[in-house]
Amino acid sequence: MKILSNFCFFQCYNRPTCTQRTLEFVISHITIPFISQLSESEQQEWLSKLNKAMPELNILLASDIPQHQREFCQIAIVADPDPTQVSKFKGLKWIQSLWAGVEGLMKAFKEPSFSLVRLIDPHLGKTMAEAVLAWTLYLHRDMPAYRQQQAIKQWRQLEYTSAEDRTIGFLGLGALGQISAENLAQQGFNVLGWSQKEKVIKGIETYCDESGLKAMLAKCDIVICLLPLTPNTRHLLNAERFSYLPKGASVINFARGGIIQNEDLIEKLNSGHLKHAVLDVFEQEPLSSNSVYWQHDKITVLPHISAPTNPDTACEIVTANIQEYFKSGLIPPTVSMAKGY
Ligand code: NAP
Repeated sequence: MKILSNFCFFQCYNRPTCTQRTLEFVISHITIPFISQLSESEQQEWLSKLNKAMPELNILLASDIPQHQREFCQIAIVADPDPTQVSKFKGLKWIQSLWAGVEGLMKAFKEPSFSLVRLIDPHLGKTMAEAVLAWTLYLHRDMPAYRQQQAIKQWRQLEYTSAEDRTIGFLGLGALGQISAENLAQQGFNVLGWSQKEKVIKGIETYCDESGLKAMLAKCDIVICLLPLTPNTRHLLNAERFSYLPKGASVINFARGGIIQNEDLIEKLNSGHLKHAVLDVFEQEPLSSNSVYWQHDKITVLPHISAPTNPDTACEIVTANIQEYFKSGLIPPTVSMAKGY
């Protein structure tokens, strides 16, 4: 039945002879694989939410779809999928990710036969902006230093710097970077931002290209990374780029671990050139128990928590994208394989 139904959909979709009833019947038997490496219980939670939001579709764990039906699946919903599982679905037209970062799939499929849609969720932007504010204030108000003073029972007031005198630079002004930068500007910080293309954003001084990066970093007290991980951004923050920062600057990485050259970061922290690093993302997650990061007094380790996907809002967005596709045939905006994000 499912083979026939998925096949029927291709046959009748967009044909004038296809009645609403036929279309509804056909859609009601369309199977969408959910492909993920999340735990069994997390996968079941997602499946339950997604099937509730789209009762007209059949969203199943990839492993529950028989091999002979897989080639008829047009759409897959994924969350950190194993690429080999994805490649078992040879007829996919597009893939909807439940996560904002899709560098794993882009690396695995250099020239994919499907389009890739990442999660763009305004709620995620707000969550990230909140995390950026929280950890910027943590550094701005010297919380790591006060924590260390408490450990040795030291009563000492450090010099206060006002937000207006603190310059924060954003690497990446996309869906998450721009809202986070605007939020800090509203809090009174002096905010700068660097992106691939030139941008005009009210209240933010913007930069692009390598000379712009150097000029921006030279002014930053705190630099916040919200770039995607691409061949161009891998190890972008290395010894040379760190040396452009003024002595005593701090770094927040909420994007991907691979953007920072680990040894160079440690060397710049140990030498005193950098004051502190807040790291939420790592090349290997969970962070290995023998990583030097855990014990380093100038590093704050976070377990990838700055902007978790909100299942309710993500589900609404994915549902709207899929329903729109079945209504109009339009695939939502996709990531650019050429740009790498
Ligand atoms: P996005 O909308 O694609 O924005 C990426 C930004 O980076 C854009 O401003 C882009 O410039 C800029 N950019 C990309 N490559 C560049 C380069 N080579 N040089 C200069 N600028 C470059 O991405 P997003 O949704 O804001 O997400 C950013 C990253 O956050 C994701 O890729 C993911 O890794 C991470 N993330 C982390 C968490 C967490 O919990 N830690 C949660 C969600 C996402 P243009 O604007 O000119 O294109």
